Amino acid sequence: MRILILIAIGLLLYIIIGNILRKNKLSSLEDTDPEKMVSCKHCGLHILEQEALKSGQSFYCSQSHLEADTQAK
Ligand SMILES: [Zn+2]
Repeated sequence: MRILILIAIGLLLYIIIGNILRKNKLSSLEDTDPEKMVSCKHCGLHILEQEALKSGQSFYCSQSHLEADTQAK
């Protein structure tokens, strides 16, 4: 009978820890959205924000487009 109690406690801990880990993962996803798409200011190409190069409020698909747009002014 004791082994059943141990299994029940183990399962309970597993569920509780799983919920905590899932909540942490969700809240960290909200901070940095990995799926967010932005468009290159120079050519309009859509890229993931995490892969884009940022200059001020503008995003660029590559270093050359960033330089082309910032040096044009
Ligand atoms: Zn571009």
